[in-house]
Amino acid sequence: MRAIQVQEVGDPSVLQCVDAPTPEPGAGEARVKIEVAGVNFIDTYHRRGWYPLPLPFTPGVEGAGIVDAVGEGVTEVAVGDAVAYGMQTGSYAEYAIVPSRILVPRPDGVNAQHGAAAMIQGMTAHYLACSTYPLKAGDTCLVHAAAGGTGALLVQIAKLRGARVLGTVSTAEKARIAEAAGADATIRYTEVDFAEAVRDLTDGEGVEVVYDSVGIATFDKSLDCLKPRGYMVLFGQASGVVPTLDPQVLNQKGSLFLTRPTLASHMLTRAELEGRASDVFSWIAEGKLEFRIDRTFPLEDAEGAHTYLEARQTKGKVLLTT
Ligand code: NDP
Repeated sequence: MRAIQVQEVGDPSVLQCVDAPTPEPGAGEARVKIEVAGVNFIDTYHRRGWYPLPLPFTPGVEGAGIVDAVGEGVTEVAVGDAVAYGMQTGSYAEYAIVPSRILVPRPDGVNAQHGAAAMIQGMTAHYLACSTYPLKAGDTCLVHAAAGGTGALLVQIAKLRGARVLGTVSTAEKARIAEAAGADATIRYTEVDFAEAVRDLTDGEGVEVVYDSVGIATFDKSLDCLKPRGYMVLFGQASGVVPTLDPQVLNQKGSLFLTRPTLASHMLTRAELEGRASDVFSWIAEGKLEFRIDRTFPLEDAEGAHTYLEARQTKGKVLLTT
C-alpha cells in the first residue's frame, strides 16, 4: 500500500510517500480502507517532533473509510461498515489499523469527507463548548483563529448553545468566513490590540471564556480579555508553545481558571465517544453544523498540505484523499 512515512522529524519535506506492507489487524483491531484522512495541526507537531513519536511513523490522527478486515473479538464494527475515527496515528495511508473501540459508524448523510473532518476538529469543538466550559445563553466567548478548521466549528457550536461569539482572524476574507459561521463580531488580531477590542465590545466587562489555540502569540493578552473568575482554555499552539506560567498571575488577573485540555481525555469511554459523535453527526445531518472543506490534496502531496497549514492559509478543513 501507499503510505506517508516520517523517517526523521523536520519540515514538510520529511513527509515521504513509500510502499509499505498492508497491515493485518490484531485482536480488538480493525483494518480501515482509508478514503479520506483529515489533516490537523497536531500532525505538524508530530512531524516537527514537538509531540515526539517513535520513528519511523505514518502521521495522521483522523480518517474515514470502510472496514476491510477485523481481528478477533471485534464487536463494535463489521467488514463493510462506513466508519470514521480520530486520535489514532497512521491515517496518511491507504489502510490503517485502528482499535475497534474508537471506530464510529457513519450514519446516512455523513460522507467520508465530513466524517474525517468531524472526528478531531468537530469533536474538539464539541468538548470545548459543551464540557470544558459549557456555554450557555448570556455568555460571551472569544474564539481565536475563528475561521480555521476547529475555530469555525467552535463558533457554530457556541451559537447553537446560545452564546455571543467574538472571533479573531488575520484577514478580511477570514472575517467573512467567521461571520458566516455565526460570529457576532470579528477582530483582526494581526492589526489591532485584541484585548482592547474585546473590552470595547463588552462594555469593559470582558468575556466568560477564551478558547485559545494560537498559543504564544495570544496567551498573555487572552488573560486580559477575561471577566473575574473567567476560563482560559488553552487548547493549541499554532504560533508556538506557551512558556511556564506563575500561578500568581491567575490571582492577579481576577481568580482565573486555566486549563490545557486535549480530546483524548474527552472520549475516555465508548459511551462518551458515541455521545459526542452522535451530537456532531446529527448536527451535520440536520444542517446545523457546516463543515467547510477548504482544500483536498492527494495522499502523495502530504507535504503540500502541511505547507499550506503552516503558512496560515487554512479556511476550513484540509483533507488527503487516497
Ligand atoms: P486551523 O485550521 O485552525 O489553522 C490554524 C489557524 O491558526 C490558522 O488558520 C491561523 O488563523 C491561526 N494562526 C495564528 N498564528 C499562526 C501561526 N503562526 N501559524 C499558523 N497558524 C496560525 O487548524 P486546526 O483546526 O487543525 O487546529 C487549530 C488549533 O487547535 C491548533 O492549535 C491545534 O493544535 C488545536 N487543536 C487542539 C486539540 C485539543 O484537543 N487540544 C484538538 C484539535 C486541534 P488566522 O490566520 O486567522 O490567525
